[in-house]
Amino acid sequence: MASELVDVLVVGAGNAALCAALSARDSGATVMALECAPIAERGGNSTFTAGAMRVVYNGVDDLRALMPDLTDQEVSTTDFGTYTADQFYDDMARVTEYRADPELVDLLVSRSYSTLDWMRTHGVRFMPIYGRQAFNVDGKFTFWGGLTVETVGGGPGLVEALVKACAEQDIEIVYETRATDLIVEDGVVVGVKARSNGGTREFRAKSVVLASGGFEANAEWRTRYLGPDWDMAKVRGSKYNTGDGIRMALEIGASSAGHWSGAHAVQWDMNAPEFGDLAVGDNFQKHSYPWSILINNHGERFLDEGADFRNYTYAKYGREMLKQPGLGAWQVFDNKVLHLLRDEYKIRQVTKVRADTLEDLASKMDGMDADRFVKSIAEYNSAVDRSVPFDPNVKDGRRTIGLPVDKTNWANTIDEPPFEAYQVTCGITFTFGGLRVTPDTEVLDTDGRKIPGLFACGELVGGLFFFNYPGGTGLTSGSVFGRIAGGQAAIYAGGG
Ligand SMILES: Cc1cc2nc3c(=O)[nH]c(=O)nc-3n(C[C@H](O)[C@H](O)[C@H](O)COP(=O)(O)OP(=O)(O)OC[C@H]3O[C@@H](n4cnc5c(N)ncnc54)[C@H](O)[C@@H]3O)c2cc1C
Repeated sequence: MASELVDVLVVGAGNAALCAALSARDSGATVMALECAPIAERGGNSTFTAGAMRVVYNGVDDLRALMPDLTDQEVSTTDFGTYTADQFYDDMARVTEYRADPELVDLLVSRSYSTLDWMRTHGVRFMPIYGRQAFNVDGKFTFWGGLTVETVGGGPGLVEALVKACAEQDIEIVYETRATDLIVEDGVVVGVKARSNGGTREFRAKSVVLASGGFEANAEWRTRYLGPDWDMAKVRGSKYNTGDGIRMALEIGASSAGHWSGAHAVQWDMNAPEFGDLAVGDNFQKHSYPWSILINNHGERFLDEGADFRNYTYAKYGREMLKQPGLGAWQVFDNKVLHLLRDEYKIRQVTKVRADTLEDLASKMDGMDADRFVKSIAEYNSAVDRSVPFDPNVKDGRRTIGLPVDKTNWANTIDEPPFEAYQVTCGITFTFGGLRVTPDTEVLDTDGRKIPGLFACGELVGGLFFFNYPGGTGLTSGSVFGRIAGGQAAIYAGGG
């Protein structure tokens, strides 16, 4: 058994871990990160993202400071609006049904801008998300849903920039090394045991930051904690996030926190592979459903596709897929809205049918009750209030009236050929339950005491997300709490 000594040992090398590593180094600590994936699959779920990051800004000047590449022309043709701390705080409270830990939310919100600005100093670049979060109406782009900023190069660009910054700061990332146990001496965490190159190694450190993601890639834990049929969900991202960090901490007495039966899960192509494919990235998602109606194989609608902007419903609608016959449903569009479909609908690996009549469309939909399908669309069409104009940039109130399940915004009739339908199932993004931490990211034990030497950040922290999630918050949370964890772990390691 070999042993190493650094001040701060980080477990994982995704966004939260790399931010923790950089922050610890900024504070003068020596740092090493252990990553179970090979270098070709580096960056965990963070690599799979589009790099969308929810951040507070009070006007275009804040955005210009964060994105110096923003041109005058972009500014003059875009309504960026604002996304104030109050809006972010309210969004977190509302979508989590007022369960999110207020102290953690306060940190997430109040440090979001300064943390992105700090990332910028480490070489991460940002730009506006024109393609996905703003539609061009009458020559003007208008941002909606509180999500305006993405990293240049998306998730891969973010990870590349952070890995480069780590290399510049002499932070070693040890790949293909899976942490398996925490080493505890006299009640203090002093390192981890890891599986590496077929053997076992010990990595000693003055403090340990767990940043190894949730348990979404662990089919057994999914079923155990999320419930029946979750073993059948597709994993949108990394196959490496199997809950090790959470397990290791629970085994030494850490307290669990948050929504352990909850997860971020979206509509995802029915025939996507079991785990994410880096060549496809997040393109198996199908996020233009607010312009569709969703119909299951019994030919029935079952949810309000237009309940809110995509950012506020997409993370909870994956779960609804598992409740449908065959564990999925079809998004149905007609010609009027096909031009609004996101790029992910155009990939080669898409499960799609197209026809000029609804009857033909239904006959091509595997397992569909065709009669009921056609009747459901007729009922839906006749319930649409056509007096309200359609506007994809705002919650337009164009709705159906009197259906058992109404569509409350963006309700267009489905009557203009060609028709297209896309088959979706549940794709899990990450799990909500995790470890209980203080606002300084110290891991607490089941008696409410700090476990000396142990810090946690990123997906494996519980208490922030319940039931639902506002799009673009996972990366911001990883960065904000990663930065705090690295700084605190460095202070601890220095004896402060
Ligand atoms: C397809 C997709 C798209 C997304 N899009 C967005 C988006 O645009 N914006 C957004 O905010 N969020 C998005 N998310 C969510 C986002 O990915 C996560 O919230 C965020 O990346 C979590 O960061 P993390 O550092 O906690 O975890 P990760 O980035 O997953 O990093 C965890 C790392 O730990 C490693 N690891 C696991 N176990 C061990 C072990 N035992 N030992 C050593 N290493 C280990 C893993 O290999 C991994 O590299 C998306 C997720 C997916 C899957």
